[in-house]
Amino acid sequence: MSERADIVVIGAGIMGCSVAYHLAARGAGRIVVLERDEIARGSTADAAGGIRLQFSTETNIVLSQLSFEVWEHFDELFGVDIGLHQQGYLFLLTTPEEVAAFQANLDLQRALGVPVRWVSPGDIQELNPAVRVDDVLGGTFCPRDGWCDPYSATMGFAQAARRLGVEIREGCPAIGFEVSAGRLQAVTTPDGRIETPLAIICAGPWTQEVGKLAGVDLPVLPYRRMSFVTERFDLVPKTIPMTIEFATSLYFHPEGDGFLFGMSNPDEPPGFDKRVDEAWMVRTVEALCRRAPVFEQARVKRGWAGFYEITPDHNPLLGYVDDVEGLLVAAGFSGHGFMQGPAVGRCIAELVLDGAVRCADISAFAPGRFREGKLVQEQNVI
Ligand SMILES: Cc1cc2nc3c(=O)[nH]c(=O)nc-3n(C[C@H](O)[C@H](O)[C@H](O)COP(=O)(O)OP(=O)(O)OC[C@H]3O[C@@H](n4cnc5c(N)ncnc54)[C@H](O)[C@@H]3O)c2cc1C
Repeated sequence: MSERADIVVIGAGIMGCSVAYHLAARGAGRIVVLERDEIARGSTADAAGGIRLQFSTETNIVLSQLSFEVWEHFDELFGVDIGLHQQGYLFLLTTPEEVAAFQANLDLQRALGVPVRWVSPGDIQELNPAVRVDDVLGGTFCPRDGWCDPYSATMGFAQAARRLGVEIREGCPAIGFEVSAGRLQAVTTPDGRIETPLAIICAGPWTQEVGKLAGVDLPVLPYRRMSFVTERFDLVPKTIPMTIEFATSLYFHPEGDGFLFGMSNPDEPPGFDKRVDEAWMVRTVEALCRRAPVFEQARVKRGWAGFYEITPDHNPLLGYVDDVEGLLVAAGFSGHGFMQGPAVGRCIAELVLDGAVRCADISAFAPGRFREGKLVQEQNVI
C-alpha cells in the first residue's frame, strides 16, 4: 500500500503529540503520527512529571517559560485536568562549588524573569520541615515550579491533534526511510510506504535506532532511571515542594497520599533494561532517609524504571538533520523533556511553517553541533 502525507511524525510521546498538535493547529496539511506501541508508553509514561524554570542555560529557561504558558492554562486550552501542583522546586546545595554555580544560575534566571530566590538553611526548613540541613549551605527555590501528570498531558495533546484531523497510528512502527539524492521520499511501515517530503523523529530514547534507518547518527542513548512511591504517609506535609539534593540527584515530592522519590545512578551504563534494580532501590531509600529521616517510618509501595534519553551535552537535538533533506529531529531531552513538550511543539511548527523559530532561539540545540564540537552543557540535570 502506498499513500501520501505532508508530514510524518515518528513517536507519540509528549514530543510527537505536541509537535503534531501544533502543526495541525496551524493548518500544516495531512499529518500522520506513527507509534510502534501506544500513545504515551515510552519515556513519557515513566516521567516524574516535574516542571521547572530553574535551568542553567538561557535556551532551556526560555523553553520552560513558553511551556509554562501552556501548563498553567492546560484545562482551559485542552479541557483536560493535568493535576498541576505549583509547590515549587527546592534545590539543596552542600558544596561551595554548587553554591557558586547556583548563584550564577540565579542571576541568569532572575534576569529572564524567573521568580526564583536564594534560601538559607532556616528558610529551607520552613519550606520542607522533613529535611536535615546541618550540612546544607543554602539553596534556591522557585514557587512557580511544580509537577503534573505526563499521561493526561500527552493525551490532551493527542486528542486535540486528532480533533484537528491528525491520524495517530498505534502499533505501527517506522521501519525505514526512502532517501534519494539526499532527499527524503517516504517513510516505510509494515503496512506499506507513506510518501512524504518531511519526517520528524520524536522517538525519545529510541532516536538513535530510528536515525540509523535513515543512515544518520543521532547521538541519543537510553539510560535507566527509577522512581518509587511510598504507601500513604502523613508525617510529612503534602504542601512541601519538589525537593532535590543536588549532589546526589535525590528528589522527592508529594504524590497522592504518599511521596514519589528517585535518584540517578551515575554508574549505570546505557541500555534498554527496564527491570527495577533492587540494589539501587536500597541505595535510594538510604539516601532519602539520610536527608529526611522521618521517611524511615514510610513503606515503599512500588517502583518502576524508564529511560532518560541522554545526549553528550544533556541538551536535545532540535532541528533539521544535516545529511538528509526533509528529516527533522526533536529528541534527546536528557531527562527534562516532559516539561518542555509544549514549547518544542510550537518551535517545530514555526520552523516547518515559517522557515525559522521566532518564539525562542534554539540554534544552540542544532543536531549538527556534536559533529562540529559545539556542545552546550546544561548543569541543572537531575
Ligand atoms: C524515571 C524518569 C523520571 C523522569 N522525570 C521527568 C520529570 O520530572 N520532568 C521531565 O520533564 N522529564 C522527566 N523525565 C524525562 C521525560 O520522560 C522525557 O524527557 C520525555 O518523556 C521524552 O519524551 P519523548 O516524546 O521525546 O519520548 P518518549 O515518551 O519515549 O516517546 C517516544 C515514542 O517513540 C516511539 N517509537 C520508538 N521507535 C519508534 C519507531 N521506530 N516507530 C514509531 N514509534 C517509535 C516509542 O514507542 C515512544 O512512544 C523522566 C524520565 C524518567 C525515565
